[in-house]
Amino acid sequence: MIPVADAIQIVLDQTTSLPAESVALSDALGRILAENIVADSDLPPFDRAQMDGYAIRAADIANAPARLRIVGESAAGAGWHHEMRAGEAVRIMTGAPVPAGADAVQQVELTREVDNADFVEILEPVKTGRSIVRQADEIKVGETVLRAGEEVNAAMIATLASFGYARVKVSRRPRVAVMATGSELVDVSQKPGRDQIRDSNNYTIAAYASLAGATVERLPLAGDDTEELKRQIAKAAASSDVLITSGGVSMGVYDFTKAALKELGAEIFFERVALRPGKPTVFARLGETLVFGLPGNPVSVTVTFNLFTRAALRSMQGAKSVTLPKETAALSRDLKGSFDRESYLPAILRSDEKGTLLAEPLKWGGSSDFVSFARATALINVPAGGKLIPAGSIVDVVRIPV
Ligand code: AMP
Ligand code: MG
Repeated sequence: MIPVADAIQIVLDQTTSLPAESVALSDALGRILAENIVADSDLPPFDRAQMDGYAIRAADIANAPARLRIVGESAAGAGWHHEMRAGEAVRIMTGAPVPAGADAVQQVELTREVDNADFVEILEPVKTGRSIVRQADEIKVGETVLRAGEEVNAAMIATLASFGYARVKVSRRPRVAVMATGSELVDVSQKPGRDQIRDSNNYTIAAYASLAGATVERLPLAGDDTEELKRQIAKAAASSDVLITSGGVSMGVYDFTKAALKELGAEIFFERVALRPGKPTVFARLGETLVFGLPGNPVSVTVTFNLFTRAALRSMQGAKSVTLPKETAALSRDLKGSFDRESYLPAILRSDEKGTLLAEPLKWGGSSDFVSFARATALINVPAGGKLIPAGSIVDVVRIPV
């Protein structure tokens, strides 16, 4: 049995980077950048008005109210490109260029047009620079604004668009094949017969794999039969970067996944991790394909996928952050259990009135209770040793991807 941290390191050591591809900006959401993003212009590209109002000289209106001659109008997309002189004002809109000679904008609410709109009365003084964002105040041309390895989120789309990235270089998505094993399994569309249950793992793993950036193929269910497993594993490995099986890795008489992998000549890197839930997790390589043999228990699947497989998929895409970031939270009630191994226990995170993050251990029926487990938003990471962690203790937590 190896510690969780060692298992994660072995996984990362075995992953290689996928090549980059170019995608349209509209397809970039959630992808991992494979290039640095560089500003091709200053931002703002010109001195920009932040308010609708009047471009003025602050000195002219120091003793407001002050009366200024309106000499022009600067609109977004149609600026007034002359020199504004003392005693003058230019009507200006949000997003429009501030004319040379002006050093502040007074908002329209604090002004009044008079004399057939030939003049404006500025009702209150402003400080120099008010409501103007100077050219390049935000970003200078040539500056790196996003770095390779960052995951493109919705807010970053504006950055990419503003600097002309109609196409973006991102890492290719890993191709994942998912295969549930177990003679008791029937597809979700079937009514389970005697002794049967519906497969949920294929769908759960596919969901988490897509969240991690992969494209996913769900393979047909495989029975507990070494020859059938070998056939399907060999076929899946030929067309995928990562194969994820579930089930058949425990010590039962019909747990054949490992045997099938070994007979196919796979290199097994680990097959038992000091982890609860998820002890019998297998990690192997078959040809160029990484194989994760996750335990069948649906809760173990979520834990082991997100600890190990997710890290591999993110690392293959060159992501800066590959493991679930650890945070700390205060336990909202006692946590009891036998922590003979490092554990990941479901919890609901919330903040108290002071803003302290609290982890409330989930009341649930144990490892097979995946319906309750689905209410968890995080996992409490308990180190091995000890029996009871009292309420108020500070514990490590990781958020479950959603
Ligand atoms: P195993 O790891 O094959 O011993 O399976 C452990 C438990 O998880 C058993 O109760 C299985 O019936 C259940 N299980 C295995 N595979 C799946 C699956 N694909 N969907 C739902 N439950 C499963
Ligand atoms: Mg089984």
